[in-house]
Amino acid sequence: MPAVQAIVATDPTGPLTVGTVVRRDPGPRDVLIEIVWSGVCHSDIHTVRGDWGGVEYPLAVGHEIAGVVVAVGAEVASHRVGDRVGVGCMVGSCRECDNCRAGQEQYCERGFVATYAGVDVDGGVTQGGYATHVVVAEDFVLRIPAALPFDKVAPLLCAGITTYSPLRHWNVGPGMRVAVVGMGGLGHIAVKIAHAMGAEVTVLSQSLRKREDGLAFGADHFYATSDAATFTTLARSFDLILNTVSAPLVLDDYLELLALDGTFVSVGAPPEPASVTLFTLFTNRRRFAGSSIGGIRETQEMLDFCAEHGVVPEIEVIAADQINEAWGKVVAGDVRYRYVIDISTLATA
Ligand SMILES: [Zn+2]
Ligand SMILES: [Zn+2]
Repeated sequence: MPAVQAIVATDPTGPLTVGTVVRRDPGPRDVLIEIVWSGVCHSDIHTVRGDWGGVEYPLAVGHEIAGVVVAVGAEVASHRVGDRVGVGCMVGSCRECDNCRAGQEQYCERGFVATYAGVDVDGGVTQGGYATHVVVAEDFVLRIPAALPFDKVAPLLCAGITTYSPLRHWNVGPGMRVAVVGMGGLGHIAVKIAHAMGAEVTVLSQSLRKREDGLAFGADHFYATSDAATFTTLARSFDLILNTVSAPLVLDDYLELLALDGTFVSVGAPPEPASVTLFTLFTNRRRFAGSSIGGIRETQEMLDFCAEHGVVPEIEVIAADQINEAWGKVVAGDVRYRYVIDISTLATA
C-alpha cells in the first residue's frame, strides 16, 4: 500500500504540515477505511508536544475517526465495502488476557495498541486519523448507526466512550445525582449522556460562562467552582462526580460533595500526583476512582445508545489547513465543543 496523505507533526513544537504516512497492506482480517471526518482531541496535542513521553516523528495523530470502508480482507465478516465505520483510541490488543476476553481491551494486560504513537502489529509506529486512509483490524472497527449524523459522530469515539464507560459502570440512571466537572470536549458529551440515562445532572464549571449551553445539553443545574459558596451549597449531594478536567483540583473540596457511598471518578488528570486527605473518604464511605476509555463492545453499545437517544456532540468543522489555529484554540479552551477535520480538504491543503 502506498503512502497516504496526512497532517503530520515533524517535531514536538513546530506547526503541523501536510505530508504522508505509510499504511500496512491490509491483511485477511483488516479493513481499509477512507477517512471522512477526524476529531481533534487534546490528547493529540499532548502526544505531539511530548507531554506524556517521547514519540517518533513524523507522526500523524487523531483517534476519533469516522470513514467509509473501501476494501476488506478475505476473512472479514463484520464489515462490508461502503459501510460507515468508526475507529477510536485503540487499534489492537493481545485478545488473549482475561481483560481482553472480558471485552475490556482498554485494560489489556499487555497494553492495548494505541491508534497513534503505538507499536503496530508489524512492529512499526501506528499513525492516526489526520489522514486520508487507515488500515485497522476488523475487531477494532465500530459500526456507525444510520441515525447518527456522519459529520458529528467522530468525537464519540474518544470523548464519548471515555465518559460513557464510567457513567455506565456506576449505573447512572433515574434517581441518581451526577455532577460533571468541566464542560469542554469530554464534559459536554458527559452531560448529554448522563441526561439521556435519566440522571439529575449538575455541571461544575469554572465560571457561569457556559451555563446556557449546559442547560441546553440537558443539565438540571449549573454552578461555578470559582464561587466558594458552591461547595457549601452542594455539600454531600452527589452520588457520582465525573471529573473531566486535566488541571489540578483541590480534591478534598470535591470529595466533600459526595453523599453516602458516592464515587468521584476521574477521566482527566494533571501530570503531577494529586493529594487527597483520606479522612475525607471515611465520611460517607466515599470512593475515589479512575477510568480509561472503554472496551470495543462497550464503544459499540455507546454508539447505539447515542443513536437511540439522539446524543450528538457539538462540533465545529475545520479544513485541514486550519489545524494549527484549531490546536491553539483547544489549548486555550476556546472551542465549542470539538473540532472535526473535514478530511476531503486534505487533498487541496
Ligand atoms: Zn482523545
Ligand atoms: Zn489483552
